[in-house]
Amino acid sequence: MKIEIDKYAGFCFGVTKAIQTAEDLSKDAQNIFCLGQIVHNAKEEDRLQKLGMITIKHSNIKDLSNKKMLIRAHGEPPATYKLAKSNNVEIIDATCPVVLNLQKKIKEKFLENPDNQIVIFGKKGHAEVNGLVGQTNGKALVISNIEEADNIDINKPVFLFSQTTSDYQEYCKIETYLKEKSISAYENIDNITVFQTICPSVKNRIPRLRDFCKNNELILFVSDHNSSNGNMLFKVCKDSNPDSYFVT
Ligand code: SF4
Repeated sequence: MKIEIDKYAGFCFGVTKAIQTAEDLSKDAQNIFCLGQIVHNAKEEDRLQKLGMITIKHSNIKDLSNKKMLIRAHGEPPATYKLAKSNNVEIIDATCPVVLNLQKKIKEKFLENPDNQIVIFGKKGHAEVNGLVGQTNGKALVISNIEEADNIDINKPVFLFSQTTSDYQEYCKIETYLKEKSISAYENIDNITVFQTICPSVKNRIPRLRDFCKNNELILFVSDHNSSNGNMLFKVCKDSNPDSYFVT
């Protein structure tokens, strides 16, 4: 039997950097407190916990005075930074640069005019999405699919962003839907601004993964059911090769 490992498999650079930061901090022989699961992968989480990393929740921040707290690649809303500061907690920020850039763009649009209708296509309650919504004082509208695009008011300027790991095809459908709706109402798309904010490492991975799945008879996709990115990529496997199986 020939077994081939996809040469593009593995964690993206943002997650790899956060894991590297956790490993480096664990060398100080101090516990490092990571806010939320560092990566949605139970095996990797388990390995890092053995090195001294402790996963905490927001409710634990108040008990971490004078300790170091790691912010993972998904990022956090401004409220978390404030809470840490007021409790004397030192932040080690491993937010992925791609997420930081997206947070910055959303914040800019919000500050430009707090009445701007900022829409984020992503998973409600996901840590990255919470961090993005936090840039707008909680005002951004989160939609998870094209059906929810009907909640957007096209009579007002719309600024559409996506979570970095969202499904690109669904995002394109939402963009087309909004533009068509605007053309029927106003014969123009002046109110609709769409930002291409899906992470390149996710977007480029899809066509490569599709080819890989078509060129192999059976696919074992290793991930964790808690990973949005993993679930999305597995769907790509299954669509390209029905003989695909999710393994944790
Ligand atoms: S933005 Fe891209 S590189 Fe950064 S953590 Fe998300 S998937 Fe990884």
